[in-house]
Amino acid sequence: MAASLTADGGVVYAPGVGNHHGMPDRASGFCFVNDIALGILRWRELGVRRVVYLDLDAHHGDGVEAAFANDPDVLTISIHEAGRWPRTGTVSAPSRGVWNFAVPAGFNDTELRFLLEAKILPLIKTHAPEAMIVLPGADALEDDPMSRLSLSNNALWDAVRAVRGLAPRLAVFGGGGYNPYSLARCWAGVWAILNDIEMPLHLPPAVQELLRGVAYFRAAGRNPPARWFEQLRDAPAEGPVRDEVKGLCV
Ligand SMILES: [Zn+2]
Repeated sequence: MAASLTADGGVVYAPGVGNHHGMPDRASGFCFVNDIALGILRWRELGVRRVVYLDLDAHHGDGVEAAFANDPDVLTISIHEAGRWPRTGTVSAPSRGVWNFAVPAGFNDTELRFLLEAKILPLIKTHAPEAMIVLPGADALEDDPMSRLSLSNNALWDAVRAVRGLAPRLAVFGGGGYNPYSLARCWAGVWAILNDIEMPLHLPPAVQELLRGVAYFRAAGRNPPARWFEQLRDAPAEGPVRDEVKGLCV
């Protein structure tokens, strides 16, 4: 539906979409139907040729890569934690439009900005996509229990801002995210950016109450920090750009 709605251009935001591990013949990694791959195929039916898929989820976008690995018109770009399930995405194949950036634990906001500016944004601009999908992936956030990446939501929001306008059709999906508080705040911020809405510093009381009513069955949920409820924006997670990250851009 996102692809059909943007047949003539536009932006669609569907945070519940983004089952990037789904394979043609099997479910995988909490994903059954690979809605991302189906969306790209729908664009294809509508005559769209050059597509970029940018996956910032903490896990490798293996299902989407598998679907389009032999199609150089579809660029699949994935930034994910090195050594984490499904442990693929360790190499790139530029001639086939496959780009992978396996980043170390502790990956910070400065490092994501570096990768985008040094390598990924130029790649996207050179490809000149007619349509683009971005998967921000809230499981790359510091507060998420499923990865050891350390991004703040500022970094994911900046990434969405940076790619907005690089293609006449843009679909932003959600992808993974296993801390309901950081996921909800991250996704709400993406919505604000795409709608040019200024974000409030403090969340309104009704929203804080809603968040506090969410059940979170993990150790961290027993005594959640106030910052999960009170502000939309995380504290920035700037840091050094480590050699392992610089080495991904050569
Ligand atoms: Zn994930």
